[in-house]
Amino acid sequence: MALIVQKYGGTSVGNVEKIKNIANKIAKFIDDGQQIVVVVSAMSGETNRLTSMASIIAKQPSSREMDTLLTTGEQVTISLLSMALQDLGHEAISYTGWQIPIATNNIHSKARIEEINSKKITSQLEQEKVVVVAGFQGISAEGNITTLGRGGSDTTAVAIAAALSADECQIYTDVDGVYTTDPRVVPEAKRLDFITYDEMLEMASLGTKILQIRSVEFASKYQVPLRVLSSTQDGDGTLLISEQDFKESTMEKPIISGIAFSRDEAKLMILGIPDEPGIAFQIIGPISDANIEIDMIIQNQGHDGTTDFTFTVSRSDIHKAEEILRASAKKLGARKVQTDDSIVKVSLVGIGMKSHSGIASNMFKVLADNQINIQMIGTTEIKISIVINEEQLDTAVQKLHKAFELDK
Ligand code: ADP
Ligand code: ASP
Ligand code: MG
Repeated sequence: MALIVQKYGGTSVGNVEKIKNIANKIAKFIDDGQQIVVVVSAMSGETNRLTSMASIIAKQPSSREMDTLLTTGEQVTISLLSMALQDLGHEAISYTGWQIPIATNNIHSKARIEEINSKKITSQLEQEKVVVVAGFQGISAEGNITTLGRGGSDTTAVAIAAALSADECQIYTDVDGVYTTDPRVVPEAKRLDFITYDEMLEMASLGTKILQIRSVEFASKYQVPLRVLSSTQDGDGTLLISEQDFKESTMEKPIISGIAFSRDEAKLMILGIPDEPGIAFQIIGPISDANIEIDMIIQNQGHDGTTDFTFTVSRSDIHKAEEILRASAKKLGARKVQTDDSIVKVSLVGIGMKSHSGIASNMFKVLADNQINIQMIGTTEIKISIVINEEQLDTAVQKLHKAFELDK
């Protein structure tokens, strides 16, 4: 008997009709003799609705209360889905994150899963029940409810699959797999049958929202067979595999697997600072101490004993980062601090880049031909990222997709 963990995202459980449809779908798997654990998200739009209510109530809602509020969205869908399954004559039982419990650290709004106690799930499965678990949430050692960050239900599902050594973790969503880029921006994008964990990890960390990055990290670390597929259409979707499996297969290896992009970017610049050892640390240190993640960094060539320093952060962190940077600027006697929250990042991703040269120059030529100015560049073995103005995002992605023949 196969044990499968299935996750249904917000659009798939967006109203009661859809929840009933999902229950019917799950019932078929049960009738086929599979053991099913289901992880669900809140109904689409619900997490945003709750967030905006909080922002009307308070300027800076406490992160503890915020997490308590946001987890209610998933509590609604687990109970409704369990009822729908019971109505079809199947035994089902719902659990919130803290009932399982899913133990996390205490960083509210971006907690990390530390341990999953799988006893309750296993015992309910043995009693032939469908176990329905709330995604996106856990509980800290202090007993506070925590959330795993936006898109966190993916991570709940993969972590449970790892804890149960499930045969497969299936992420059901509103597209039928992972595409060469977001099909909403490039309608000609192609679905991939397979993608390696490393490529998906890069895509997710570079802004591809189809899977939360932590879910891919978990899947890669514990070798969880992870599949992305449509909740409404039939098909095999996209399977994540290891690079080794990919190499051993007869599959054709594309140089570029996909184009990722992120609108959640902002740039900060500190100009005219002393060009001496320790400066980077004095600028970046206080920003990291405030739990703000820094992405790309450029330090210009110094001249006249001074230099400029530029880095990017998440758009939501720009005000906090600017405040800290202005304090550092005062201390260092900097000439100026500037910010720009109208930038985006576009990245080409592919393990084939390891053994191919000339990708960067091709990429820059496409951008040049389309009058797109590159503000920053970053590379690793399997990706090239550029920062450009947000107005040119769609054009850049569409032109690159065509130029690298991802539509073929
Ligand atoms: P869910 O609510 O099911 O978690 P998400 O909205 O988080 O769904 O993820 C699905 C969406 O991801 C799709 O609707 C699609 O627009 C977007 N997306 C972005 N990049 C890609 C990609 N490379 N392949 C497929 N979908 C992508
Ligand atoms: N409901 C949460 C969100 O909207 C978690 C998830 O959907 O995965 O981000
Ligand atoms: Mg999602």
